[in-house]
Amino acid sequence: MSDTPRSHGRKSISASPVPRDLMGQPRLAGVWAAHVITLFPEAFPGPLGQSLTGRALKDGLWALETTHLRDFGEGRHRNVDDTPAGGGAGMVLRADVMGRAIEAATAGAPSGRPLIYLSPRGTPFTQAMAQDLARGPGVTLICGRFEGLDERVIEHYRIAEVSLGDFVLTGGEIAAQALIDAAVRLLPGVLGNAASTEEESFASGLLEHPQYTRPATWNGRPIPEVLLSGDHAKIAAWRREQAKVLTRARRPDLWRDRQARGNGGE
Ligand code: SAH
Repeated sequence: MSDTPRSHGRKSISASPVPRDLMGQPRLAGVWAAHVITLFPEAFPGPLGQSLTGRALKDGLWALETTHLRDFGEGRHRNVDDTPAGGGAGMVLRADVMGRAIEAATAGAPSGRPLIYLSPRGTPFTQAMAQDLARGPGVTLICGRFEGLDERVIEHYRIAEVSLGDFVLTGGEIAAQALIDAAVRLLPGVLGNAASTEEESFASGLLEHPQYTRPATWNGRPIPEVLLSGDHAKIAAWRREQAKVLTRARRPDLWRDRQARGNGGE
């Protein structure tokens, strides 16, 4: 990405409240970039502008751009949706409008940047997918609204559909932010403590062990004694055991997958 003026409908977002053209920060070429096609560009960066992801955005460890779908709408009112063919409730995002937005959002994008439509019909998002995305050059995301997207645009651009879970949101923006957050925190330098991403939930096919901090006793509940023992081997063994107990009880699906992969012998 460069400092040259962006084409119609493209806008870069920074966590800083300072207007974009006054920031004077050269955009880093080759940095991991998320490009979001949305009817609500003002929803970004949203929570991604806070805390560790926000600082990393400001520091240029990753980049965020939006394409406003409305800019590619039809006619004086820039219509982006129409009634479903065959009848039924709600409105559907038009293939031609979304097609133009996709062309604009992906122009000049590095090859290998996946194109994903956030959709309840998609493959459920996982930590493994976040890791894959973090290893790549970035991602182009399409946020749906209303009843969703005309099927032909999904087929034409071979768009991958990814779901946040088995529930229905009003729009794809929150799902896009969740996906971006999960990927960005895995980028080198974002968390500042790489070990924390290696030990946390799902990294080893287990949920994370319980965590405790001060005070040593709260409401009559002490911190488990082993954690105050200073015996690091014993602490590691206790945590591992707790992670297994939790995973078996709460997520029998994860536990079974893990057994099947041959980790059951531990
Ligand atoms: N009629 C659609 C739902 C549309 S919800 C259906 O039944 O499948 C409107 C938009 O919200 C979708 O286009 C999608 O972008 C987003 N969305 C809703 N639920 C989602 C989920 N679980 N995961 C990811 N995106 C979701």
